[in-house]
Amino acid sequence: MREPRVSVSESSGKTALLEPIRARVAVCVKCPHLARTRTQTVFGVGNPDAELMFIGEAPGADEDRRGEPFVGKAGQLLTKIIAAMGFRRDDVYIANVLKCRPDMPPNSSGNRPPTPVEMQTCLPYLAEQIDIIQPKVLIALGATAVEGLLGTRGVMRELRGKWHSHQDTPLMITYHPSYLLRNQAPSEKRKVWEDMLQVLERLDRPITEKQRNYFV
Ligand code: URA
Repeated sequence: MREPRVSVSESSGKTALLEPIRARVAVCVKCPHLARTRTQTVFGVGNPDAELMFIGEAPGADEDRRGEPFVGKAGQLLTKIIAAMGFRRDDVYIANVLKCRPDMPPNSSGNRPPTPVEMQTCLPYLAEQIDIIQPKVLIALGATAVEGLLGTRGVMRELRGKWHSHQDTPLMITYHPSYLLRNQAPSEKRKVWEDMLQVLERLDRPITEKQRNYFV
């Protein structure tokens, strides 16, 4: 008789390693102004065993309300990009440089980018997440994620579409989905898509003819 296959998945181990960090983040008051104004922290979501990890900037109002990264308009677009790549949202891991929503002046809407001090304060949490998840590929979405991961503030036009490295993990830089929401030109969508095709190639994922030709 065949032995039942007991699969003690690696992910359960990684989940267990991530939990204490999540707990520390949840009560973090290192940025007192953000701790005061947030609804909750936004740690990260997805498969702790993911091959692919997306890094964004910071929670916006929707994420602050829901406690999950990329659930607003930009998040819905990111979810579509992930699906077009042939993944489900819960196959990959999604996190931000900042775990709190950057505070806004009273009665103003919208979001602001994190300050350099806020980023430096929060980045150790992301570093711990990456260390545990050990994705095969990291994707930095936009300039803040680049600054967080590479410590440089470059020109996105020049940085995107090329392989970089974050502590020996291949890092692809692409535009933030909110940029695509502001610039609806198919040429910009195609640029992001070409970046994603490079990622799929790097992960040895099959690419269909249809996928190759999106947005051409
Ligand atoms: N933009 C980000 O960078 N992160 C989110 O979680 C949502 C929007």
